Amino acid sequence: MLRPGFLTTTAVTLSRGRASQAALYGFPRASLLASSTQNPRLLSSAANSLTKLQAQLDDPTLIASAGFIDNEFITASTSGKHFAVYDPANGTEIARFPDMGIEETEKAIQAAKQAFPSWSKTTAKERSTILRNWYNLILENEQDLAKIITWENGKPLADALGEVRYGASFFEWFSEEAKRLYGEVIPSPNRQQRMVAIRQPLGVVGIITPWNFPNAMITRKLGAALAVGCTVVAKPASETPLSAVALYELGKRAGVPKGVIGLVTTHHNTKAIGKLLCESQDISGISFTGSTNVGKLLLKQSADTVKKVSLELGGNAAFIVFEDADLDKAVDAAVLAKFRSSGQTCICVNRFYVHSSIKDVFGERLREKVEKFRVGSGMDANTTHGPLINKASVEKVRLHVHDALDHGAKLLIGGKESENAHGYFYPPTVLSDMTNNMRIATEETFGPVAGIFSFDTEEEVLELANNTRFGLAGYFFSKDVSRCWRVAENLQVGMVGVNTGAISSEVAPFGGVKESGIGREGARQGLDEYTQYKYINMAI
Ligand code: ADP
Repeated sequence: MLRPGFLTTTAVTLSRGRASQAALYGFPRASLLASSTQNPRLLSSAANSLTKLQAQLDDPTLIASAGFIDNEFITASTSGKHFAVYDPANGTEIARFPDMGIEETEKAIQAAKQAFPSWSKTTAKERSTILRNWYNLILENEQDLAKIITWENGKPLADALGEVRYGASFFEWFSEEAKRLYGEVIPSPNRQQRMVAIRQPLGVVGIITPWNFPNAMITRKLGAALAVGCTVVAKPASETPLSAVALYELGKRAGVPKGVIGLVTTHHNTKAIGKLLCESQDISGISFTGSTNVGKLLLKQSADTVKKVSLELGGNAAFIVFEDADLDKAVDAAVLAKFRSSGQTCICVNRFYVHSSIKDVFGERLREKVEKFRVGSGMDANTTHGPLINKASVEKVRLHVHDALDHGAKLLIGGKESENAHGYFYPPTVLSDMTNNMRIATEETFGPVAGIFSFDTEEEVLELANNTRFGLAGYFFSKDVSRCWRVAENLQVGMVGVNTGAISSEVAPFGGVKESGIGREGARQGLDEYTQYKYINMAI
């Protein structure tokens, strides 16, 4: 168990003035903390903030500023440096984490390497029981875990609770799948030999996760890795390490043995730690969710050690509304698939293609829905949509909106930021009359902007939708059964929503094609990323 008092003893101080300056000018997170040293005489605003957060939890010991190496929560880095975590709803610092480096990562790798022989030899049932315990603990603590997500990520509390349950579902699913890691008995082509293919865990795997699902992106990877007998070193996003620590605390309570799961927290050493995880001969696999550029870098860095790499990268999802669509359902799904998490999920719609005969009515219906959104702090019960993660995200959204307007798009709602806004907010925006020379046509916005293009034929829209290097998710609405099959088969994506905007599920294979990634997560297929086949030929 984490001790409630220990946070204040290791936190490093940054004066309120500098913290708020950092928020105001949107400096890269933690940039002012690089040279921070411990100074117990200064009032520790980060420790105070954490104490305040703890007071709002049923179980205050779930929250801590720490990494986790060889079964211990580590609250200070060997360099003495820290990085700050901010509440995106108001830009204030809420925690200060040890900025770990190569030394700590190497320790975590060695601990995981040592733990592998015994963990990989546990029975599937033993691993299943631990994952199931962990699942139960997550559900018992779901309200606290949701608050932690909202503090560091900004999404509304109801969405955060949804994420906690979605995250837990991967432990439930993989606790069951652990027992079904079947190999194959191969009918032998000759009478003297018997052949089987068994499945074995890769070894130690490196896991790198993003900030948009601080809880579920970790459980989706950990669940599969642990189910098959791998051990893990994880690096959470520096924006959202608190959710990771809370999960690890529950993992420890669930009975995950020493060394099996490591957690390295960093901001300034992200690149170096990523490189080490990819290049280490003691690591056999990498699983990454994040941007396409970083994914490509990790793939290159993993080449020399010929690692198995699983990548879930950016998307540029098309949402097609055919002339025969159920408009009510299409608009409801559009709201969900575009504006969930304020547009910050990799399967969020980036391009709406609406048949020219219904383009205006669709735009108006979407505008009416967006008008009802309540944007604000995720902790406020009335809030439907929270802030973006940081200033850079707001700037990217602003750039995409201005670019579209400069090229002739029509603004239906949003687009104008409030001058008094605190935190990283951008108003939900709907644009119509979009054209292919606008950034939104080819770049992922990752924010609350719906851009409506129009089309006339199925052939034309398929070409438009597929005219991208990305291929994660795609959605369309039509009542024509033949068309539904045709379009679903011809969209160049890993996942298709037909007459629905909600496709994520622990039981279904999640992943993309083209530059949106390699491999699948969740589902039976999720186990493949962490296993390899061994063929055994036995003469009789
Ligand atoms: P985003 O732009 O959405 O933050 P990133 O791909 O930058 O997406 O981040 C996803 C995860 O990858 C985070 O944990 C981040 O810290 C990590 N990351 C970013 N750059 C690198 C890198 N060069 N090597 C390893 N991990 C990285």
